[in-house]
Amino acid sequence: MRGLCALRVIAPVKSVVRSCVLIPVNKTGRVHIQCLSTKMPTLSPPPQSLMKPMDFPQKLLMGPGPSNCPPRVLNASALPLLGHLHPEFTQIMDEVKAGIQYAFQTKNQWTVCVSGTGHGAMEAACTNLLEPSETVLVCENGLWGQRFADMCTRNGAVVQKIIKPMGQVFTLQDVEAGLQQHKPVLVFVTHGESSGSTLQPLEGLGQLCHKYNSLLLVDSVAACGGVPLFVDDWEIDAIYTGAQKVLSAPPGASPVSFSERAKNKVLNRKTPIRSYYFDMTHLANYWGCDGSARRYHHTGPISSVYAIREGLARLAEEGLEKSWETHRKCAEMLWEGAEKLGLELLVQEKANRLPCVTGIKVPEGVNWKDVSDYAMKTYKVEISGGLGAQAGKIWRVGIMGYNATPENVQKVLRALDEGLKSVRGNPRSQL
Ligand code: PMP
Repeated sequence: MRGLCALRVIAPVKSVVRSCVLIPVNKTGRVHIQCLSTKMPTLSPPPQSLMKPMDFPQKLLMGPGPSNCPPRVLNASALPLLGHLHPEFTQIMDEVKAGIQYAFQTKNQWTVCVSGTGHGAMEAACTNLLEPSETVLVCENGLWGQRFADMCTRNGAVVQKIIKPMGQVFTLQDVEAGLQQHKPVLVFVTHGESSGSTLQPLEGLGQLCHKYNSLLLVDSVAACGGVPLFVDDWEIDAIYTGAQKVLSAPPGASPVSFSERAKNKVLNRKTPIRSYYFDMTHLANYWGCDGSARRYHHTGPISSVYAIREGLARLAEEGLEKSWETHRKCAEMLWEGAEKLGLELLVQEKANRLPCVTGIKVPEGVNWKDVSDYAMKTYKVEISGGLGAQAGKIWRVGIMGYNATPENVQKVLRALDEGLKSVRGNPRSQL
């Protein structure tokens, strides 16, 4: 009984010991504990939302990304973890590197995945390739040029821009005028502008930049794998993409590749790279690109690397040419189908349309969201809206990787057609 009583007393005393002062042992041999406060902070209860299984709807993601992952990719990401420097894992990293080199058509030694989404890859390119007060020429025809310019300013670079409205692309003459005027160390273009749904022609751009002693950086997050891309032949110096578009893997590991020119610029910097996490010299070592033993830099996102490995394997098995053809055919089906519904595409010139993301103009008097809500409610299909200057004015339909099938395109067209009819038949839904 005495023992029990003692326990009852001791437990609360122990739990408040941090707010107590111990007084030295007195003559009776007892320790005196003088409590300053006997009250424990109130413990917040565990969230009830976590006490039930995750509520999980199946959706067909036909927006500008992410796109759905095939089962082999999802299964790979559920595999048990390996140590991130274990030989079995570094073997997988080597396979990922080979897959990226294939997707980019490059032999660049510095080819890695950054641990992060496409924005991480953008930050890596920016922070490695630019030093404070250096000039960068940003070709801005949508959100991604704006965002990259923002990153450059934050890194202390001087930003000069050539701006075109969303839906238009840059000619070699446009870029040459910018090179002559601003003499930048770096030129940035977006290969697939997912906000304006344009495909930027890249042939000749690298050679042009090199004529003016400038490097060419390409954002191919929304294009790589879906359209022709030849990084070495087109003399692109730095390029990145994302996992969740044509590669059909979850966002989290993003491929980046630097040419010898870009690598030398990084190795000859006068100032340290501002980001430790995105320092390409460290990442190149971790990805086994510098010939020395891999050192711990950060813990790689192991499951994301498994997943992108399978996404790249899928692309390798299909073959780039087949993948480009599939994306083109599905996009043409969407373009023709949309025009048959009386809809107009944002990009007039067919050659400048990005097959991976199509911008479709919202007809006068229609609220884009009502149609997109209809598609989600009726077909569980995601159709996105526009961004920036095109917000409310276009829908954006993504056809990427695993989702690039004629059946999915038909489903989108059906949802658009019915959605428009339901909105037009309902005056309250009209603007
Ligand atoms: N660039 C382009 C062209 C994109 O479409 C995206 C994603 N929509 C990004 C960069 C950024 O990628 P993330 O959202 O994965 O960070």
